[in-house]
Amino acid sequence: MTTPALHEIGEPRTYAGGVDVRVVRAGWFRPDAGGFFGVVPRPLWSRFVEADERGRILCRLNLLLIEAGGKRILVETGTGVRMSAKDRDIKGVEGGDPVEALRAVGEGPATIDFVVVTHLHYDHAGGMVDASGRPAFPNARYVVQRDEAEAAHGDELRVQGIMEVEQLDAVRAAGQLAEVNGEVELVPGVRVLRTGGHTRGSQAVLIGLERPGGRSGDPTGQAVLWGDLIPTRWQVPTRWTSAFDDYPIDAIEVRNELLGRAVVEGWWSYFTHDPGEMPVRIEATERGGYRTVD
Ligand SMILES: [Zn+2]
Repeated sequence: MTTPALHEIGEPRTYAGGVDVRVVRAGWFRPDAGGFFGVVPRPLWSRFVEADERGRILCRLNLLLIEAGGKRILVETGTGVRMSAKDRDIKGVEGGDPVEALRAVGEGPATIDFVVVTHLHYDHAGGMVDASGRPAFPNARYVVQRDEAEAAHGDELRVQGIMEVEQLDAVRAAGQLAEVNGEVELVPGVRVLRTGGHTRGSQAVLIGLERPGGRSGDPTGQAVLWGDLIPTRWQVPTRWTSAFDDYPIDAIEVRNELLGRAVVEGWWSYFTHDPGEMPVRIEATERGGYRTVD
């Protein structure tokens, strides 16, 4: 299977309050299809996506570059460059370096004021540090939910070895960690929101000043980056949880609630791992569920 360009930059879009957003595609990875779709049987998911000969599907490592109130905010950091060759092969990683991806947009790592990591799995938090293990964004505050930082150092067997503890500790030691709790505004028009579900302290990013009554289709409205609560458009059906979700019942409940808000408030959707064009809109189905608008 040949893959298109490693780095691609989306057209900038502006949301309410003058918040500019660009999708920065930082490479590819190939999660195991069975893990990715969890309880959903292959005959259903294979209508949308094809698995390779190793049973993996091709997904993007998308970052968002947000500019608001004179600040630059990078959301997600990809895998970074510290994975072993064996791990990169198993997970099918190509690229994954957020600094290199930013250079493709003409931005340097020193210009980033905030780095938002939706959760501490390798494909989101690996790029918090550079090859030497030091923070890759020297002037940034790294925004992580307190619950997530605590879970990374907790004693739950389920998460042992799968959180990027080394990266978290490096950022903390450098005095650059900003632990937040719940819903927190970083700058006017950019908020993080603890969702849980996928991991204990997973967070989403809400973009655009709140404007009650905003309609879907309004390019001056609001947007959301879901993190792995909804990693691609294929998980918009609320019950299509992944086997990688630590708290699947919570994930279903919070997805249902937030997808409802996305429809009512007209949020555009960005997904960390979607290989297609973004953002997309969400609509309610006649049967009480949700789907993307094609
Ligand atoms: Zn992920």
